[in-house]
Amino acid sequence: MQNKKLYLILGVCIAAALVMIAAVLIILRANDARIEFSIPEYSVETVEFGGEWTAPEVKAYLKGNIFNKSGKEIEVTREGDANTSELGEYRIVYSASADLVSGSAEYVVKVVDTTPPVITLAAAKSEFLYVGDTYAEAGFTATDAVDGDLTGSVTATDIDTSTPGQKEITYTVTDQSGNVCTATRTVVVREKPAPTQVIDSPPSTGGGVIYLTFDDGPSAYTATLLDILKKYNVKATFFVTGSGDRSLIAREAAEGHSVGIHTLTHEYSKIYASVDAYFADLNAVNEIIKEQTGEYSKLVRFPGGSSNTVSKKYCKGIMTQLAAELEAKGYKYFDWNVSSGDAGGTTVSDTVYTNVINGVRGKAYSIVLQHDIKNFSVNAVERIIVWGLNNGYTFAPLTPDSPTVHQHINN
Ligand SMILES: [Zn+2]
Repeated sequence: MQNKKLYLILGVCIAAALVMIAAVLIILRANDARIEFSIPEYSVETVEFGGEWTAPEVKAYLKGNIFNKSGKEIEVTREGDANTSELGEYRIVYSASADLVSGSAEYVVKVVDTTPPVITLAAAKSEFLYVGDTYAEAGFTATDAVDGDLTGSVTATDIDTSTPGQKEITYTVTDQSGNVCTATRTVVVREKPAPTQVIDSPPSTGGGVIYLTFDDGPSAYTATLLDILKKYNVKATFFVTGSGDRSLIAREAAEGHSVGIHTLTHEYSKIYASVDAYFADLNAVNEIIKEQTGEYSKLVRFPGGSSNTVSKKYCKGIMTQLAAELEAKGYKYFDWNVSSGDAGGTTVSDTVYTNVINGVRGKAYSIVLQHDIKNFSVNAVERIIVWGLNNGYTFAPLTPDSPTVHQHINN
């Protein structure tokens, strides 16, 4: 009986001791225990709209109790996500718990828009305006990654076309995040040219002006022609091509003659295939002229003249279009009101001479068509000059301000 009592007391004591030990262990374990994350407790990341973003890998460690001095990795759970295709602030919480302690780290993602919109300007409708013209907006679009189409929100400054010069239009648009885009368009305003004076050949009793013009060169006869013109100090006009010795074009300009654009190839099927083809040919000759004379020319003579019908075969209505486009681009084209006949009518110098003086007679202004690729035509020039000077005529080179002759356009 005594023994039984003793055992009971002992049992109770052992049980109490065990409970005490367990309590001490629990206290020791929880004492000062904490959870540490591989990121700060609070952090903020900024991400551009539409950018790539993935939630960071976060680790958590249980630290601070006597059993886990170095820290034991424990499981982490994440709540929340960020969507970079929508502006805003996203809160992500990482949490972990173990041994009666728990902890969390907050990770904030700010999806922002710092990219300005983009303004795209449509190509200008014309290369320049004349003083007093109204600028017609060529068009523009504005887009933004976040806001989409912002074309309606674009503002454009006005330009003053009352004076010549380079004018700038500034286009501005701002997106909802306050990002600003500006674009600039330069508009050239030119002085209005004097209206084209078309010669109607009023009668003259001598004293008229003769514009000698020579097409299709330079050629083997051009140097001789230049010598003749120099001898009488007569200035003429050369509508040049891409053939022949190009340095003669430089000489023509250096000796005071006008250099105009005729054609690079003189192949009707190519030149009159389209408006673009025509201007490609024209620009190619003008590059040669620039290279030889230092300046682009504004003077043009159409291969075959503006009244040619051969172009009909290649492009209907092209001469009408070209005549208008040349004027719009600031060029001036010249046909002729006196033909020497050297393009087919004759192959004789005497006849060239007679054709020219008969044509010139009685005209206040004569634009004479000759070709410096024809030896017999060049050979008539000296006599034409002598006759003109003896009869009170003046010889002059064509300039953009000269009166012009426009034949009837037939295509
Ligand atoms: Zn020609």
